[in-house]
Amino acid sequence: MLNGKTAVVTGASRGIGRAIALTFAENGAQVAILYAGNETGAADTRQRAEAFGVRAETYRCDVSSWDESKAVCEKIMADFGAVDILVNNAGIIRDNLLLRMSEADFDAVVGVSLKGAFHCVRHLARAIMKSPAGRIINISSVSGLMGNPGQANYSAAKAGMVGLTKAVAKEFAGRGVTCNAIAPGFIQTDMTAGLSETVKETARAAIPLKRMGTAEEIAGAAVFLASGLSSYITGEVIRVDGGLCM
Ligand code: NAP
Repeated sequence: MLNGKTAVVTGASRGIGRAIALTFAENGAQVAILYAGNETGAADTRQRAEAFGVRAETYRCDVSSWDESKAVCEKIMADFGAVDILVNNAGIIRDNLLLRMSEADFDAVVGVSLKGAFHCVRHLARAIMKSPAGRIINISSVSGLMGNPGQANYSAAKAGMVGLTKAVAKEFAGRGVTCNAIAPGFIQTDMTAGLSETVKETARAAIPLKRMGTAEEIAGAAVFLASGLSSYITGEVIRVDGGLCM
């Protein structure tokens, strides 16, 4: 479905980003795997992607840094020669009630998710516009759609990604580039592994499908948005949340 395409996936050393990179590779795309510090996880994603017979490379990149993300995007362009698909997946949480939330924790979360997505779009925009079917996919969250107590920083960043998605969709549509967001619900990854069993049980009870999702279920939506099957969809937010936020 993605034969001959080159995809850049941020935060692909584990969790949802890894599942997206591997599903893209399985569907024939070569992948640039970006990670923050987990070199072993990124190398594992690369090995597993290569097993599908595609080229895969890893790049350490703190996406919250303009300079670092610019240098890495230039290196990816030099290595692969073209970029067709960008997935802005890197994200962190620093949960706290608003009255206790520090400026540093607000800035860190917005810096990685929202500003990081801006940086990568900004640095790869010209390359993606040259693709015959450029695709930008931003991984938002249901927290950004409905707000979540204890996550003012994260909800703001993820809601910001929806605005970014729609603005970019309108700006790039004339160049044949689509830009969409995925809003996952509760997904089993390191990000949710630390939640108490009580919190998880309460979450499961509120989800119509009565279970947490898997990273592969997010990857399924990502491969659809990256492929020709979604060619007339842009500026959309697809919830993949078991019905939580309907
Ligand atoms: P995860 O398992 O915690 O993985 C986070 C990924 O982001 C890792 O690859 C990490 O790299 C990378 N990363 C962190 N800080 C970075 C930085 N400054 N620069 C570049 N990369 C950075 O998270 P996940 O659950 O897979 O989540 C992936 C995305 O889905 C996030 O945007 C998250 O907000 C969103 N999401 C998740 C859920 C959920 O329930 N899990 C729900 C809604 C939305 P290292 O491994 O190198 O640290």
